[in-house]
Amino acid sequence: MKTKYIFVTGGVLSSLGKGLAAASLGALLQTRGLSVTIQKLDPYINVDPGTMNPFQHGEVFVTDDGAETDLDLGHYERYLNVPMSRKNNTTSGAIYNSVIAKERRGDYLGGTVQVIPHVTDEIKAVILSLAEGDNAPDVAIIEIGGTVGDIEGLPFLEAIRQLRSDLGRDNCLNIHLTLVPYLRAAGEHKTKPTQHSVKELLSIGIQPDIILCRCEHSIPGELRRKIALFCNVDQDAVFAAVDVENIYEVPLKFYEEGFDQKVAIMLRLPARNAHLEAWEKLVRDCADSKGRVSIAVVGKYVELKEAYKSLHEALNHAGVANRTAVNLVYVNSETVDEANVASCLKGCDGVLVPGGFGYRGVEGKIAAIRYAREKGVPFFGICLGMQCAVIEFARNVAGLDDVNSEEFNPLCAHKVIYLMMEWYDFRTRNLERRDAGSDKGGTMRLGAYPCKILPGTKASEAYKKPLVEERHRHRYEFNNAYKEALAGKGMIFSGLAPDDSLVEIVELPSHPWFVGCQFHPEFKSRPMNVHPLFREFIRAAKKFAG
Ligand code: GLN
Repeated sequence: MKTKYIFVTGGVLSSLGKGLAAASLGALLQTRGLSVTIQKLDPYINVDPGTMNPFQHGEVFVTDDGAETDLDLGHYERYLNVPMSRKNNTTSGAIYNSVIAKERRGDYLGGTVQVIPHVTDEIKAVILSLAEGDNAPDVAIIEIGGTVGDIEGLPFLEAIRQLRSDLGRDNCLNIHLTLVPYLRAAGEHKTKPTQHSVKELLSIGIQPDIILCRCEHSIPGELRRKIALFCNVDQDAVFAAVDVENIYEVPLKFYEEGFDQKVAIMLRLPARNAHLEAWEKLVRDCADSKGRVSIAVVGKYVELKEAYKSLHEALNHAGVANRTAVNLVYVNSETVDEANVASCLKGCDGVLVPGGFGYRGVEGKIAAIRYAREKGVPFFGICLGMQCAVIEFARNVAGLDDVNSEEFNPLCAHKVIYLMMEWYDFRTRNLERRDAGSDKGGTMRLGAYPCKILPGTKASEAYKKPLVEERHRHRYEFNNAYKEALAGKGMIFSGLAPDDSLVEIVELPSHPWFVGCQFHPEFKSRPMNVHPLFREFIRAAKKFAG
């Protein structure tokens, strides 16, 4: 079978949950025995979100192959349980980058390079690349970022308009997600924004086949008929995406609406009946928590929850696995110091210090780690969180003076975290891993790396296997010159690169649960397959809560 394409556009306003809707539809089609992939096309000019501030764009999701991508790819992996790659996300910046490179090479043979056809052809090639190779999926869902009507989105919309005639009507489906607000004062749903949004889409030549209406309450039948009439879609092609408490309920809600069935019929997909048992079990398990633990997340980007999306989800998965509700208390590390740390962390059953960049807030994180270490509160340090744990231990347990990371003070006496020159040289030369080797992101260790696990440690208790692969996104590393000194004071190095060159996990065996890892385990946690380190951290927090 040839790959069928589903294009998902959004109207009226952003943040309607296009990513979740695409992922949920994909998950439903999977339960019908189809193989599915999803691609996100982002209209912004950044080549990738790697250089963007998490305050603006939310989390940067890292794939196994080292791509820095949009956080929607995290949803795709969590719902589809298949790894994404750099193929699954592109931006206007990346498209233009490649068009301009071709122009400089003379590939266009002297022609005038234009948005149509050169930019649109490039976009089409990126979309069609999903169907290449032996493992071409049955269905590729393409999510167009932004809102219909945005200037920068036009080339993408033009590309999908053309693809429909290139590939044939039976092979492409357009789904438009809009908002149908409920006006409490009038006591009714309003369809006008949807009508306007579809009009906008029609003006660029795209007729939606299905309208998905994000709404607070389910939409009555007569209103669906009205939307169908004004937007030229089948009467049974207007669906409600009603607000839910738990995002993992969305696939089941869509199924109740008959959404995936309509998609299967319109695309003539060889779909069997949906098998929803796993999703039903997940939703039941989510609702089945006995106790509750409070976890302090001590970080810098606490105002914007999106900045820690995967982390938040991984903690939830761990809560479900331990049948306990996880109450996340976001603590701004810039406000924490040695004097107030006890009151900042009061009532918390676990302390988590997530990844981050730059010195701001670091001393607050170190104070929180000291508190957790001394008071026996379960601690989990991720990337920068692990680096801070090493600094804290070197300062307060090993008694070293003037300890820091090279990132924060390159002139300090003891750089326990530093830029490893072998790596640095390797990375700057290794241009294939990124488009540009000399830019800020080009020097990072990105993507999946193997890590061997030392037996008899907390890490091995969690993983239960000797070798794992985890995803990285950082520039600095543990400085092996301090291994002996810190080991002498009781720190163990329970995860190492297979050739022992890099420290990947540190822990304190004398503490109930104190683990730091150089990688980002949150990227690999799935609702139906929780990451073992998160599972054990929450288990320890539950024990601590008593
Ligand atoms: N800033 C640190 C580094 O670059 C940690 C990065 C992170 O936490 N992702 O090594």
